[in-house]
Amino acid sequence: MRKRWMSLLATAVLVAGVLTPVSPAMAAPTFRVPFPCGQTWSGQTRSGHSPAYAIDFNRTDDVGDPVVASAPGTVDVVTNLGNTSYGKYVRINHGGGYTTYYAHLNGFNVSVGQTVGYGKVIGWVGSTGGSSGPHLHYEQRLNGSDIQVRFNGSLALYWGTKNYNSGNGCSSGTGSGTVDTSGTPLTVRSGPGTGYASVGTVADGAKVTIACQTSGTSVTGTYGTSTIWDRIGSGRFIADAYVYTGHDGYIPNVPRC
Ligand SMILES: [Zn+2]
Repeated sequence: MRKRWMSLLATAVLVAGVLTPVSPAMAAPTFRVPFPCGQTWSGQTRSGHSPAYAIDFNRTDDVGDPVVASAPGTVDVVTNLGNTSYGKYVRINHGGGYTTYYAHLNGFNVSVGQTVGYGKVIGWVGSTGGSSGPHLHYEQRLNGSDIQVRFNGSLALYWGTKNYNSGNGCSSGTGSGTVDTSGTPLTVRSGPGTGYASVGTVADGAKVTIACQTSGTSVTGTYGTSTIWDRIGSGRFIADAYVYTGHDGYIPNVPRC
């Protein structure tokens, strides 16, 4: 009986395994250094840190310097833990299970429920909580667990200290990309969709300047399926699914059309 029960259990587990839908992991947000555009900060990681993958940021005379949101999201914690732990800290929820933490702040510039974008000042560097000196303690988490920090898709230095240059919240500009169709010229449309008139082509491998991006019909191309369309001239749009831009989704700092 025991044997049969075990066998049934094994079958049940197997069936459950087959039937359980596997939800694809959502692409991580493009996180940026949590300081204003153009600034350089020294970031330190160390294995004895808690949690392990957090980064402590410093620069000369940094008390009171602004701290900015490292990606768009919604502020979901603005709390003062007093003289312990994070002290005054902010958490931003970026969706898809991703959150970021900004601790030991001097003060707050946001409130719970507020929507923030790149470069939004959320508070100021301080030394509150269990801090031995002014610095920003910064974390990226996925589903509550701390993860190795990435800025603009690049892994932070583990372990050690290095300088990080901020490209966060820099003024809007144009983007660039390279068309990759594996041979066939890419059709240029008069609007952001396959239903718009063809107004020409761009060759495979061509470099394009992207003035703005917008949402249109869904296209499956070299870089997956996307509804993003890139405007490469007046009345000239191409499907972003065929353009290498270095970014999944919209290019940070390139405006919406
Ligand atoms: Zn720390």
